[in-house]
Amino acid sequence: MNQRTRTRVLAIAFFVCLGSACAEEPAENEPLPREHPNLVIVMPDQMRGQALGFMNEDPVVTPNLDRLASEGVVLAQAVVNYPVCSPMRAMFMTGRYPHSNGVIGNCNSVTAPFGYELRQADRTWSDVLADKGYSLGYIGKWHLDAPHEPYVESSNNTAEMAWNEWCPPERRHGFDSWYAYGTYDQHTRPMYWAADTPRDEAFYVDQWGPEHEADRAIAYIQNEGGDFRDADQPFALVVAMNPPHMPYDLVPEKYVAYYDGKTYRDLLVRPNVDVDGDSPMSELARTQTKNYFAMVTGVDEQLGRILEALEEEGLANDTIVLFTSDHGNCLGTHGQISKNNHYEESMRVPFLVRWPGRIEPRHDDLLISTPDIFPTLLDLMGFAEDIPAEVEGASYASILLTGEGERPTSQLYLWVPPGEPAGGRRGVRTRRYTLMIEKTSDRVTETTLHDNKEDPYQLRNIADESPDVVERLIEEELTPWLEKTNDPWLTESLEPI
Ligand code: CA
Repeated sequence: MNQRTRTRVLAIAFFVCLGSACAEEPAENEPLPREHPNLVIVMPDQMRGQALGFMNEDPVVTPNLDRLASEGVVLAQAVVNYPVCSPMRAMFMTGRYPHSNGVIGNCNSVTAPFGYELRQADRTWSDVLADKGYSLGYIGKWHLDAPHEPYVESSNNTAEMAWNEWCPPERRHGFDSWYAYGTYDQHTRPMYWAADTPRDEAFYVDQWGPEHEADRAIAYIQNEGGDFRDADQPFALVVAMNPPHMPYDLVPEKYVAYYDGKTYRDLLVRPNVDVDGDSPMSELARTQTKNYFAMVTGVDEQLGRILEALEEEGLANDTIVLFTSDHGNCLGTHGQISKNNHYEESMRVPFLVRWPGRIEPRHDDLLISTPDIFPTLLDLMGFAEDIPAEVEGASYASILLTGEGERPTSQLYLWVPPGEPAGGRRGVRTRRYTLMIEKTSDRVTETTLHDNKEDPYQLRNIADESPDVVERLIEEELTPWLEKTNDPWLTESLEPI
């Protein structure tokens, strides 16, 4: 039942009651609005913010996202500060920046000796909701545990480098319903550990990952027989799908069929792809963009099924839905293979929030970034006072609800080489500019400045011709961010060599 229908039902119920002694109660079977709403987060992996049909950037088919966008707020400037898997997921869970939550790189066997994994002691938004009595479900990719020997049996856990790891129950941060894996990319035969599955008994499913995970999400929402959650309590559910992450060809043909007849020239509309080049990245773009868009369409279809289940169960009005991704995908733009760089295709992600009757549908250019998700959601859900003091992100609940509130002037960007917390790249993204500075051995080796207003595809580095802008962004934006986040990268050697 949508909000308008609900209002009409309530109005009729009230009218019928006039002249009688009946109480002003809503019609029977009408779910009462909850003081604290449910939460459903759908978070595919590697879906760039440009791959949304309604944005009119990539020529991609996303009817369900287009509809969701018309029903909620779209934060079209949302970015991931450190656009790669584990750092994003740790910021998302803890509301803290990488140097504070300790996940300053992907979780794998190379970074395990440095302790890169979500800390059991850190208080996540799910810990807060669990303490409030919420039922909590997690489905899909987690990737927040460091692999340890003997490595679990998994095709991506070879002797050279291990990626996949089981998450033991004590490290699940309040998620009582669990159907997840560390990291594993075989989309047509995904693997999982359920809540009680032992570490050495992961199982495989012969179904496209997002479809299977939507099946599980729908079962969780329907909760037949009370098997999945406490029906009397609100719930929070994360559906962390792996596609449109590579390998791009592991996608059902029915989604590729949406792009039948399209050539790579029809699909590669961004001028920052060298469409006719002979480099491996040009080849990647030419051969895989159709599959990437097909996977986006498949994810969109599965999102649509989850939204339909919420509506059928009468839960849509009492559920906040967030759709976002852990980072974007260059897929050949700027000659880049995928993510973990400062370009728009890598940093910008979808960010759609729907809460019928509470959040008005619109677009907003708020510069939200990953650590803000935790406080913003808890604030929206009525738990502002329960946001832990150590959370470094800001709540923008007021902006989502009213359009009014204090706004940030920039977003922080990071990349950290394994085991070198003070090294790598840092930068900021403002409403107009992207600044990226790379340091090697304590010396600045590269400074890149893009004017995203004049040059939206970031084709020109104007750092040399605009030293005043570089200096201002370092002084007014980057330095305060690095101080706030206790980043050891911050030294006095910021002058280009
Ligand atoms: Ca990822």
